[in-house]
Order: sequence, then structure tokens, then C-alpha cells
Amino acid sequence: MPNVYLLLGGNLGERKTFLQLAREAITQQVGSVISSSRLYETAAWGKTDQPNFLNQVLQVQTTLSPEHVLQAINFIENELGRTRLEHWGARLIDIDILFYDDLVLQTQRLTIPHPQLHLRKFTLLPLVEVAPDMVHPVLHKNIHQLLEHCPDALEVWEFQE
Ligand code: AMP
Repeated sequence: MPNVYLLLGGNLGERKTFLQLAREAITQQVGSVISSSRLYETAAWGKTDQPNFLNQVLQVQTTLSPEHVLQAINFIENELGRTRLEHWGARLIDIDILFYDDLVLQTQRLTIPHPQLHLRKFTLLPLVEVAPDMVHPVLHKNIHQLLEHCPDALEVWEFQE
């Protein structure tokens, strides 16, 4: 069964609760969570008046195609955003597809691997926990190597309650 690697992020409201709700919805609508990283906190880049972000990576076994995974995560983002805090006008949860096995895909709606993943420490730090030896099918480096060469200077730290 294919493995899809998802990055969850949020910086509004009960951030940890939203990650948990997203995980439950992913389990129901995308597939079983095989592995999950710890939670990481990052300062909101470029917009210093925003609260810090929480990020987590999940490895999920799925029978869905990449397009259907995208549909499901868009639905979950909307559902959690709409039903919880409509008046905030921002998404409480953002879900990105990082990898879908070693598939390389570029369509109008979807780019896999995620085009920013090797540039962001807040993606690579949780990802290296879940898939350290996974080789990026375009850059031909594993996650350890991508992290070593990542130019991102933004501080990322493990989330403490
Ligand atoms: P964003 O606002 O950054 O979350 O972007 C959401 C949109 O980016 C989605 O509706 C997708 O059509 C598109 N997209 C392209 N590649 C990806 C990917 N790997 N994961 C999630 N969304 C993607």
C-alpha cells in the first residue's frame, strides 16, 4: 500500500488540539497513521505579529490516489477551519503532501514531492524523525542530507507543553 507523508501546521487557537483533530480526520479519510513525529514550534516567518507555528509530520498508509489525498486534505482543512473558528478568517490547519512513495508528479493542482520541502527546517526536522533514509526522488539526497544542506536560518525547536 502506498505511503504518503503529510506535513501538518497551524498557528491559531488551540494549536495542539487542531493537530490532533486533523490526525483523527486523516485516519478516517486518508488511512492509517504508521508513524508520526514529535511536535515542533517555529516562529512565523516574515510576519512577526503572528503566533508561532506548530508542525508535525505523519506517515500514512493509503489506498487513495495522490489527487484523492489532496481532495481529502482540502476537505479536512475546510471542515476544521469552518466549523471551529469561522470568524478568524484564517485556516487553523494547513496540510501539505510532502511525498507519495517515490512518485514525481507535477500537475496544475499538485506538485509531489512538495517543492519547498528541502528549503524549510520546520519540514525537515519532523520529517527526519519519520523517514531519515528516504531518498528525495528528484534531488537524490536522503532527508539527513537535505537537512545538512538546508539554508533555512529560522529557528525550530521541539514543542514543550
Ligand atoms: P497552500 O495554501 O499553500 O496550502 O496551498 C494549497 C494548494 O496548493 C492546494 O489546493 C493544491 O492545489 C496546491 N498544492 C500543490 N502541491 C501541493 C502539495 N504537494 N501538497 C498540498 N497542496 C499542494
